[in-house]
Amino acid sequence: MKFPLSMTAGMAGYIMKNKMRPRPEWQVNKSVQHDASNPFKIIYTAQTAEKREPHPMINKRFPLVLMLEPLHTCNLTCTGCGRIREYESTITQKLSVEQCLHAVDECGAPMVTICGGEPLLYPEIGALAKGILNRGHSCYLCTNGMFMVRKLKEFTPHDLFFFNVHLDGMEKNHDIAVEREGVFQEAIKGIQAAKAAGFKVVTNTTVYVETDMNEIEELFEYLKQFNVDGHTISPAYGYSAVDQREIFLTRERVYEKFKDIDRLAKKYPLQTTPVYMDFLQGKRDLPCTAWGNPTYNVKGWKGPCYLITDAHHKTFEEYMTRTAWDNYGPGNDPRCEHCMMHCGFEPSAAFGINSKVSDPIRLLTWLVR
Ligand code: SF4
Repeated sequence: MKFPLSMTAGMAGYIMKNKMRPRPEWQVNKSVQHDASNPFKIIYTAQTAEKREPHPMINKRFPLVLMLEPLHTCNLTCTGCGRIREYESTITQKLSVEQCLHAVDECGAPMVTICGGEPLLYPEIGALAKGILNRGHSCYLCTNGMFMVRKLKEFTPHDLFFFNVHLDGMEKNHDIAVEREGVFQEAIKGIQAAKAAGFKVVTNTTVYVETDMNEIEELFEYLKQFNVDGHTISPAYGYSAVDQREIFLTRERVYEKFKDIDRLAKKYPLQTTPVYMDFLQGKRDLPCTAWGNPTYNVKGWKGPCYLITDAHHKTFEEYMTRTAWDNYGPGNDPRCEHCMMHCGFEPSAAFGINSKVSDPIRLLTWLVR
């Protein structure tokens, strides 16, 4: 099976419950609101709002994966990372474990991804992961892998706990992407140590303009020897916090890069849903479902999504009810035009948006394979 049975069953039950009995206050479609306090916000929704006909299932808004950023401090300065740039003024601040767990409770998403910054630099990282798992949520800890060997003793293997190690290519190119030599080797040592200690380990790869997809296949082949449990892969999308836009992909280039993704998915344990793979290959359009992956950090609930910041909300409720969701997504906001990030679109599969009759069978086959 792709995921532990308890995780799959828990997620399916949660989705069903929220589809059958959606929270009415989260389903309200906000009208376009011009925010005078944010002079940089570009809205051209007004030009297209009348033409849009949202899919009926789009009314079922609820969170699926909480992106929890307890700190933005990092030991690296990766070329494609927006966080160390956007949150430069608060880079030394961190959330307390209590604040993090309050966010987990407030949001209620069944899956929590701890990201940052480098989460293994967070002093109470073991206690935070334990608190999330004790609440019955699954937990992905995203890391560059450099401190895994040192920090492993702070964790206990658990069916719902995964280390998610960042690897953007083989040694030479990964070290270029993270702007430091030796990172790839440290990450591999971390993966080996975690697997030997009984932990589940997956990897995550971002595909940039320069990425050679043959090298990504070489990477997955290389990782086989360590019995890595899965791989996530996502196209790099340029957004306002990152200024080196030439490294990011346009929609057309994403289709080209991912044209062979089905073959890779048959050969390696990709954790990319078949519906999202259709989207990456241009076989169907998906609307943005940014509320499926809310982000919480030292400034609050980041709206509307992991990538764009138009507001930080004090409470999750405020984030869900005050964000003008209809203003976002391709065709609604120019900043969203080339976005194909899994944080915005992968939940579309679970929400059943733009679904086909065959989708549930495909999803089930994919889950149990
Ligand atoms: S399309 Fe992408 S950038 Fe735009 S709101 Fe959705 S996730 Fe954010």
